Amino acid sequence: MAFDSFKFLIKNEFTSKGELLKFQEQLRRNVVRMAMMRTVFYQKRYRDVGFELSDIGKDGWFEKLPIVTKKDLKEHFDEFVNPELRQYLKVSTTGGSTGTPTKTGYDSRIPEEIYSWRLQKRFGVNPWDDHAYIWRDTRKSKLAKFKNAAMWWPTKHLKLDASFLTDEAIEEFLYKFNKLKPALLQGYVGAVSQVAQYVLDHKMTMWSPKVVWTTSAPLPPIQRQLIQKAFGAPVCDEYGSCELRWIASQCPIGKGLHVNVEHVHIEFVDDNNMPVPKGEYGRTLLTNLEDTVFPLIRYENNDRGRWLTEPCECGCTLPCIDSVKGREVESFKLPSGKTINGEFLTTIFDATPDIARGFRVVQHKDMSITVECIPSAREYETEIETIVKDFGEKLGGEVAVKCKFVDAISHDRGKLRFVVREV
Ligand SMILES: [Zn+2]
Repeated sequence: MAFDSFKFLIKNEFTSKGELLKFQEQLRRNVVRMAMMRTVFYQKRYRDVGFELSDIGKDGWFEKLPIVTKKDLKEHFDEFVNPELRQYLKVSTTGGSTGTPTKTGYDSRIPEEIYSWRLQKRFGVNPWDDHAYIWRDTRKSKLAKFKNAAMWWPTKHLKLDASFLTDEAIEEFLYKFNKLKPALLQGYVGAVSQVAQYVLDHKMTMWSPKVVWTTSAPLPPIQRQLIQKAFGAPVCDEYGSCELRWIASQCPIGKGLHVNVEHVHIEFVDDNNMPVPKGEYGRTLLTNLEDTVFPLIRYENNDRGRWLTEPCECGCTLPCIDSVKGREVESFKLPSGKTINGEFLTTIFDATPDIARGFRVVQHKDMSITVECIPSAREYETEIETIVKDFGEKLGGEVAVKCKFVDAISHDRGKLRFVVREV
């Protein structure tokens, strides 16, 4: 079953854009119809705005549907569940490292792994190749893990728990990594960066996997370069969120992330919930096209993103979004009331990724800002100070902006936060 779906996904990578749009529209109609008929939440919410079943498919019908927020999930969790399929409901919760912890449900029958196979195939990795991971596996039960291992036997999966990254644990992992020679290294951006830093600090020679696949946080050029250097392999950026995983991922040559259009419908909207022009940043709305147990339709996940205007040079027709640079909750406020968006804050060193190994921008309670930075070498310190000074000037000198050199950037159990607000 999963293999058939996988073949379908591979075919879709080169299907015409028109056909993909038609196919997606059909999925949207199905999921909205189902949600209106089976779930209390959508029944009530759509009735409140006067949206009827017969409106599905009419001109601009989808954009008329009300937006679902994190608050809705929190207050009406049970009303999202399709009672007839409750036995397939699984619940997951975010750690809250990006702001508010969110409890969400999902349909355990969706063969999500096929989206990871598609990503891997682009880099020449097969599902049965040996893999190494640096992360916390929160979704799978012990039984599911055992079944998975049995299914892929004799494939080896090497793991390093991103929550406990001691020098001993990293050392042991890297030793086993070189022995196993895995085709893929996958993990949280923060944790993989820390391991990559360890490799470079200790001048270790590492086996090069076919790809290093990072997830769960934006991947700025600094981190990409660091990981590339340590493992001598291309780095693939992937975008997913706790509420809806497998949204989009990179290919070997493109700058953007190809969207898994069979699984998710993405919109970027302005403050009036209207689509922003292609190429401009907007609030992200997600619709799960496969979930009939816990439907999420036009769900706002608080990330900001945008479509890329040019098609990818790889020839794949799946549309591309830009890499996600920041989360809405991580924006800074200035005394004048002006807001600085996360996507800008994470780009400070984008033009000069060589000079730093890591950074973090922190806004303190008094609104002053500190840019913490690990210089690649002592000789870059002056240049970094100049960049931070320029950054302060761009903010109009409203708040004090300090530069602080550090040896390491702390992460929350593998998850890296580039922008932190203490306010
Ligand atoms: Zn591509």
